[in-house]
Parts: sequence; C-alpha cells; structure tokens
Amino acid sequence: DVTRFLSSGAVPGSPTSTSAFSAASQADWAAKRLVWVPSEKQGFESASIREERGDEVEVELTDSQRRLTLSREEVQRMNPPRFSKVEDMADLTCLNEASVLHNLRERYYSGLIYTYSGLFCVVVNPYKNLPIYTESIVEMYRGKKRHEMPPHIYAISEAAYRSMLQDREDQSILCTGESGAGKTENTKKVIQYLAHVASSHKGNQPSLAISLKGELERQLLQANPILEAFGNAKTVKNDNSSRFGKFIRINFDVAGYIVGANIETYLLEKSRATRQAKDERTFHVFYQLLCGASEETRGEQEANEYRFLSGGSIPVPGQSDSENFTQTMDSMAIMGFNPEELLSMLKVISAVLQFGNISFMKEKNQDQASMPDNTAAQKLCHLLGINVLEFTRAILTPRIKVGREYVQKAQTKEQADFAVEALAKATYERLFRWLVHRINRALDRRQRQGASFIGILDIAGFEIFQLNSFEQLCINYTNEKLQQLFNHTMFILEQEEYQREGIEWNFIDFGLDLQPCIDLIERPAHPPGVLALLDEECWFPRATDRSFVEKLSAEQGSHPKFFKSKQPRGEADFSIIHYAGKVDYKADDWLVKNMDPLNDNVASLLHQSSDHFVSELWKEVDRIVGLDQVSSGENSGPLPFGAAGLKTKKGMFRTVGQLYKESLTKLMATLRNTNPNFLRCIIPNHEKRAGKLSPHLVLDQLRCNGVLEGIRICRQGFPNRIPFQEFRQRYEILTPNAIPRTFMDGKQASELMISALELDHNLFRVGQSKVFFRAGVLAHLEEERDLK
Ligand code: ATP
Ligand code: MG
Repeated sequence: DVTRFLSSGAVPGSPTSTSAFSAASQADWAAKRLVWVPSEKQGFESASIREERGDEVEVELTDSQRRLTLSREEVQRMNPPRFSKVEDMADLTCLNEASVLHNLRERYYSGLIYTYSGLFCVVVNPYKNLPIYTESIVEMYRGKKRHEMPPHIYAISEAAYRSMLQDREDQSILCTGESGAGKTENTKKVIQYLAHVASSHKGNQPSLAISLKGELERQLLQANPILEAFGNAKTVKNDNSSRFGKFIRINFDVAGYIVGANIETYLLEKSRATRQAKDERTFHVFYQLLCGASEETRGEQEANEYRFLSGGSIPVPGQSDSENFTQTMDSMAIMGFNPEELLSMLKVISAVLQFGNISFMKEKNQDQASMPDNTAAQKLCHLLGINVLEFTRAILTPRIKVGREYVQKAQTKEQADFAVEALAKATYERLFRWLVHRINRALDRRQRQGASFIGILDIAGFEIFQLNSFEQLCINYTNEKLQQLFNHTMFILEQEEYQREGIEWNFIDFGLDLQPCIDLIERPAHPPGVLALLDEECWFPRATDRSFVEKLSAEQGSHPKFFKSKQPRGEADFSIIHYAGKVDYKADDWLVKNMDPLNDNVASLLHQSSDHFVSELWKEVDRIVGLDQVSSGENSGPLPFGAAGLKTKKGMFRTVGQLYKESLTKLMATLRNTNPNFLRCIIPNHEKRAGKLSPHLVLDQLRCNGVLEGIRICRQGFPNRIPFQEFRQRYEILTPNAIPRTFMDGKQASELMISALELDHNLFRVGQSKVFFRAGVLAHLEEERDLK
C-alpha cells in the first residue's frame, strides 16, 4: 500500500483533526511534563521536568532515568502527542529547534520525506527509491489543494500550476540544499509532474496537435539527462553532482498546455575538465565517450592515458558508462540533434582530453619552453581543424602587442602549461554553452507566445568549507539574495493575512537584515564592495591577490559583516558574516579567476578553424583577455597582472564577477515577478545511507537554509491559527457555561470562550474567520483539556 509512504496513518493534515494517538499518550505527556534537552548523540533527547528552581530546571532523562540540572533556555518544551508527525511544522504549538528536528526525524523514519514548514517545503533525501513518484500518484495529486493531500513535491508543483492558471501569475520553485541533498532529483520530479499534467488535457484537440505536443514533452524530459552527461560528475559527496546551477523555465499557454521551455545555466565548474580531486571524476560524458563510443570515434587511447583524467577510469557504483553513452546519444537524438552535430561534439570532447597530453620542456640554459614531441598537438589540431605549426607557434611564441607594435614573445614552460589548460577549460565551457543553446533552440518554440511560466531553480545552497574561494563567494552571494527573497515574501504574505483578518500587527521585514551583507559584496562604489574592488584590482598595474585583500580591508574594514583576518598567511584572508554563518575566504588566484585570461593567438586560430562547428564555438573572440596582458613572476599567485595593453580591451571585456552579477540580477528580477515556492533539500548523512539521520548535520542545514529562522520569525507573530468552528469544537469543554445554547456566530462564540479562558490579551488575536495564538498557547489549552 503506497499511501503509507505519503501519510502517517493518523488522519492526515492538520493537528486539529481528531488524532489517532491514544488518550493515554496524551495523559502521559501532560503528567510527565515532557521536554527536550540537548544531547550529543541524538541532537535532543526526551526528559521530564522534576523541579523548577528560578532559572534552573531539574529533569530526568526518559531513556536512562539520569537526572540533570539545566538552565531554563536549554530546555525546550515538547509538543502534545496529537502534534506527532505533523505535516506542517508551523502548526506545532511548541515551536522550537528540538521539535522541528524530532518531527522531521519521526516522519523520515516512517518514509515520509516531505514536510512543510510554513512557506517552505522540506525534503530529506531518502537514499532509496520510494514508490511515491508513479503516474498513479501524479493522478492523486492532480487538481487537489495543498492541504488536501500529504506533503509532496507534486503538491508544490500542482499548487504552482493551479495558481498560474487561476491567478495568471508566473510561478517559481526554488530548490536549494547542499551537495547530495536531492535538488536535481526533485527538479526532475517537478518536470515529470508538469509534463504529465499539462499534456494529458487531451480534450478535443486534433490528433496531430497531440502528437506534436507529445514530442515537446518528450524532448523536455530529455533536457536533464543531456545536461547531466555534460555538467554532472562524481564527487566525494554525490555520484551525480551537478557542477553548474540552472533555471528551467516552462512556458504554458492560456489553456495550460506546455508550449516551450528555456534553460539558463550558471557557473559551470570548468576547472573539473582538467583537474579532479582524489576519488572524484571529471564530467560523465568523458568516460561515456571512452567506454561507449566505437574505437573509430574515440581514437585508440584509454582513460588512464589522459593527463586530464587525474584518477584514470573510476567507475560509478551501479552505473555503466557505456550504457549511459548510448542513452546520452539517444536523448540528443530525441532532442533533434543531427548526426553531424553529435560527431562534432564528440570531437571537441576528445580535443579537450588531447590538450592535456601536450607537454612542454624547459630549454637548456633558457627560460623558454619547447615541445619536443608533437604527437598530441597533431591529434588535437586534427580534431579542431587548425594547423599544427601555427598552433605550436601561437603557444610557444605568441604575438603580443607592445605599445603600438606586435612582437613575438617566447613563453616559459609554466606559461605554456597555463595557456593549454586555460584553452582546454574554455573549449569545454564553450561546448557546454553551445549545448544549452542548442537545447533551447529545440525547446523554445515561439510559434505560440507562452502566456505564463513556471521556473524551477536548481542551485547549490550556502557553502561553508574550511577555506573558501571565489566560487563559494558567488554561490553564497546568490543564496544571500534568495534568502532575502524568501524573507521578504514571508513578510508580505504574513502582513496580508493579518490585514485580511483585520488584526493589527506590525511585522518586521527580516529581508532587510540581509541587505548589509549583499551590499558588502555587490555595491559598485562608495565604498566599492568585494566584486567591484576585485574588478578594479584586475586592471591595476602590478596588482596581486595580496594587494586586493589589502584594498578590501582598507575599504571595508569597518563594515559590520566584514572581518579582516589576523591569522598568519596560509589561513583565511578575510571573513564575511553571511546569513548562514561566518565564512572564511582565501583570496588565492582570485585575480586570475576573475579575469580568466586566454591565449588569444590560439583563440583566433580556433575562430578561423576549417571545422565549422569549432569556429562557431569560438566566434566571440574579442571578449577575451589575452595572456599577454598577464605578466609573470613577482610575489604571489601564479600570474600576477601587469597593465600592458589592457586599456585597448577594457571597454568590451567583462570579468567573471561582472558577468555573474549580471546574470544573478536578471534571475532575481525574474523571480521577483513570480510567486515563489521554496523547497529546502536536506542531506540526512554523509555516507549516502538510507534510514540514517545525523541530527547535528540536519540541524546545521536547517539553520543555514532558513527553516529555523523562519520559525523564529513565525514566533514573533501569532503562528497558530484556528478557524472559529474548530476552536469551539475542540475547546468548548474548557468553558462549559460561556456560550448560550442558542445559535451564535463563530466569532462571537470564540470571543466569549476566550474571555472565559481569561487569556492575556497579548497571547491571542481574534480575526474575521479564525483565532490567532502565540506559540505555546495551544499546548497550554491541551494540558487543560487533559485535566478535564
Ligand atoms: P548537487 O548539488 O551535488 O548536484 P543535488 O542536491 O542535486 O546535489 P541529487 O543529485 O538530486 O543531489 O541527489 C543525490 C542522490 O541522492 C541521487 O543521485 C539519488 O541517489 C539520491 N536521491 C535524492 N533525492 C532522492 C529521492 N527523492 N528519492 C530517491 N533518491 C534520491
Ligand atoms: Mg544536482
């Protein structure tokens, strides 16, 4: 019976429904005065209060019967049993960390991986296949309201779809979480749901239209497998880790049919194409090509003969690279790629590998590099349709502009190695960009203008490693903005609900809290933020990563979210107090990462390649900062910058930071015009194990992703809301003579009951249709009810 994977067996839905929990457990809870106390191993464990003395509480642990004395703040109240496994944690009356963790854990152990927490939907990765994603389950969710069905990604998708159709408002579903938490899996479920629901309105459509429509949906479903082959890789944390962010926008017509889709990607980790950490792999497609393609297509070399495949051939448990190769090729065929395109792509992937096998030597008694064996270069140039002699010259002695003239400048071995690696990464990145563009061409059919859209964002959450680099800054900056969007949305919705119910309450916009940190990163001037200072430093003569850090400290030293590091070198250079916590950054290579310089001599050869596909990949060459603009030597970083020749290109050239900031600004503008739905994905343990939930790991994520903060914000207001009717039904027993036998409307009856209960005015508000309570008040009423 699959439905047990959807709901707890107790009457699903709100805790106000009569629960299946025995009167005995309810009495037990009241008699023992159960609470949660901190526990090293379990996060929190159950205990009962024995004695209260001022600020101290003596408790007895339920399991061991050990007695402990704790301060009052350390003890968190336990919810009455009828709140067990609630589907929306905002309904809990005791709103604290311990109860949130307990609820998620209880549900998780029962196979209930989705839980709401106010505006959030939280999902804990089950690390096993649950039978909850079948077509019959899709059908069960179709047309239902959120609270009519147990929590599910389908419920979120359905709600987004319905409100898009009814309110004519664009929607977004934002999936975040750490690596391995399940963002991509859930993204695929949203698309699966929509492809099913929005195409099976067969109605009286002519059959031709149906088959065309079917094709679009089939193609849409192939977009992910293709992107995953080229953009995902096995990492220590996730065998199928997305090494890029994406926003998939599905367009619908007024009738609710899918009419097209469009994908935007962010920050591909291109460095993975040339180097991988121990036990990690490069992008799947490389191994697929080596294992799956015919010898004729892939050439005769094996995985361990490529320097860019650091670990040789590392298998992924449960996956066959050669079978996956066939699948990738099939997906691309369904997407409408023609055989020439497929072959061209495979050649470019081989070329990326060949770049790695070119090796240079240092000439005797000179700094200059040479290439004693050009076998790899020949293969490479053959694959890329360029002349090997010209290529070798462009690498070893590129023409460089000095003042108004060009001179040939011999390169050192380090410079040549750097140039080759940068070219390989750029080639792969351009191939990926082309791929996305090509998919969009297939999916984005503009015959009919879409009336509205649902956008799905799959992007990494806050990253806090021991030391963090430029990539983490970009991702944390993004999350700062997404969290701000969340807080602001919550603020608006709460405000609206209070207004609708005619309750006076001045909510605080916690979104504003995030602005200082966002400014610290993105502010263009007065004083410039991190990104602007980095850009400035990139154009500055003889600047280094060090001089960047010094300027940053000088400009932002007194910013409340900024910390200059006092540690000796080797540790962090500076720290930023992000929403999710303090993050230590190390600025090594930031100038190079931001400029992303390339040997422009080779770039223009590629631009003129005899291979049409290759020249197409390299058509934008004027946006490149040449290696000549990078001088070598000096004190820090592999390639500090010089000023020579930079002025000529400054106008056109955009730094990585600038491009990223622009695409994020665009994304945020899009999201702000949508009704956002937030999915917080949680990784339960770092061993990829089913059925295990590490409490502190989960608590850390709940803190980083705003779930706990959301609850804290909830507690500022009146989080528990009960419609008049229900309030009367459940609690009239507490006020036997308050309401006359004659008919009385809900509001009046509730008001009479409340005054009979003699509640402090600060603990409740009576609205137009419901009573609002502070956190904890319902627990108190429940206790009273038990005593009756
Ligand atoms: P990354 O940031 O590294 O891309 P991610 O958040 O996208 O991580 P996923 O790739 O979606 O993580 O999930 C990691 C793995 O966890 C999946 O390959 C799958 O094995 C498992 N998994 C995640 N969600 C589910 C689910 N709902 N049901 C079954 N397995 C799941
Ligand atoms: Mg992913």
